[in-house]
Amino acid sequence: MNRQPCACSHCACTVGANALVQDGKTYCCAACAAGHPDGSPCCMKDCSCGEAARPTTDSAASNGVSHELSPP
Ligand SMILES: [Zn+2]
Ligand SMILES: [Zn+2]
Ligand SMILES: [Zn+2]
Repeated sequence: MNRQPCACSHCACTVGANALVQDGKTYCCAACAAGHPDGSPCCMKDCSCGEAARPTTDSAASNGVSHELSPP
């Protein structure tokens, strides 16, 4: 019929009858519509857009080089 791609930038799903429209954009599920704030997974198990949207600041924090703050 009239399939549209999910508006989530990392999602490759197509939205169907249960499309979720938010801000004029069409999402396949509520997790995509919310932008995966907590890395919430997509409704499609094969889709990893939730993990792709998750910020990876944890790996940077574990970089144990001398980055100490030295106050004046
Ligand atoms: Zn997805
Ligand atoms: Zn989606
Ligand atoms: Zn998504």
